[in-house]
Amino acid sequence: MNDCLFCKIIAGEIPCNKVYEDDEICAFHDISPQAPVHFLVVPKKHIPTLMDAKGEDAALLGKLLYKAQELLAARGCAEKGGRFVINCKEDGMQTVSHIHIHVLGGRPLLWPPG
Ligand code: 5GP
Ligand code: ZN
Repeated sequence: MNDCLFCKIIAGEIPCNKVYEDDEICAFHDISPQAPVHFLVVPKKHIPTLMDAKGEDAALLGKLLYKAQELLAARGCAEKGGRFVINCKEDGMQTVSHIHIHVLGGRPLLWPPG
């Protein structure tokens, strides 16, 4: 956990371009944006992947998702929407082992993914 990149960002040890923060959640711009709007919403609690979430984390996961849409709407994407993505483990091509929701908007996004 001490080696976790997103825990270090949450702790302020690594700088980020912050979008939102409260006692349970942090959101910051992705360092490599894939759309005009691309930020990550993460819990402050270190949970490596979605598959590691426990029943006790259900409310926190719901809050992450709700906040994700609220923050996207606040960036002018309420009408056209966007995409909310959680990559998970190896087959999901997750590269940072701390749950995060990618929030993308501001252009049409292709589907299905490659
Ligand atoms: P994953 O591939 O795990 O779903 O997503 C990890 C995301 O974290 C990638 O989109 C990547 O660009 C982003 N990322 C990696 N390192 C950093 C960093 O140091 N700062 C920020 N803001 N984003 C990062
Ligand atoms: Zn972490």
